[in-house]
Amino acid sequence: MRLEGKVAIITGGASGIGRATVEKFVREGAKVLIADISLERAQQASDEIAATGAAGATAACQVDVSVFTEVEAMVAKAVEVFGKLDVIFNNAGIAGGKPLLDHDPSVDYEPMIRVDQDGVYYGILAAGRQFRDQGTPGVIISTSSIYGEQAAELSFTYSAAKAAVISFTRSAAYELAQFGIRAVAITPGRVGTAIINQFSDELKATFAAEQMRNKMTEPSEIADVVAFLASDEANAINGTVVHVDDGYSSF
Ligand code: NAD
Repeated sequence: MRLEGKVAIITGGASGIGRATVEKFVREGAKVLIADISLERAQQASDEIAATGAAGATAACQVDVSVFTEVEAMVAKAVEVFGKLDVIFNNAGIAGGKPLLDHDPSVDYEPMIRVDQDGVYYGILAAGRQFRDQGTPGVIISTSSIYGEQAAELSFTYSAAKAAVISFTRSAAYELAQFGIRAVAITPGRVGTAIINQFSDELKATFAAEQMRNKMTEPSEIADVVAFLASDEANAINGTVVHVDDGYSSF
């Protein structure tokens, strides 16, 4: 098993990409703290995964990633429950947007920046300190987006936050390599999760048509890549962006 003996935190772990990644990590032998703004859904995910009898283990944790003290408490909880931390997947996020000139900054900019940008910074900072203090290697994987590398309709704030995730990843890799810490960002394209399901069937069909297999990426396919990146098999991948977008960014 690829992640046997590893302890991971997965934020946004109750749903979508996060949930699929929890399932994959546990099948690969990891112990995973499922961290989400909804404790109820995190606990439900933990219970359902435990019932499958998969190799690893799970525990649930409530966190609002936009609050640094809560992110610090989340890291402390992983160490308290599982004894250490090896991997953090900064994945929690929100999407949506309005035309730029219709923005009310307090509604259309600040809240999303707090979750999608500040939340990743806090995860990198809190987990980075834990890895350094443990004196063991650590892996930081963070979810950006194809929109972190390009402009898109109604994505002004989302694109800014997701671009910051890529910048944080490069800088963290550069600065933390001295502690044996790796940092990698992933850029999913269109993945069939709650974030996408809020859109009309017509728009979802357009999204699918813009990917090379003419369909949305499955959350489990993102999870497979994240599990590889978290494993020692990816030790040479650092400070970079891994595109898991079904070819979207290639054309
Ligand atoms: P999702 O809505 O299924 O999952 C997001 C999870 O994050 C939910 O469980 C939600 O409760 C949690 N969350 C939201 N705000 C939080 C907060 N403040 N603190 C803690 N948890 C919080 O959506 P998803 O598609 O699985 O999204 C996961 C990540 O992937 C997000 O960062 C999203 O921007 C990114 N992404 C998604 C797609 C896509 O097409 N689905 C594409 C590119 C990037």
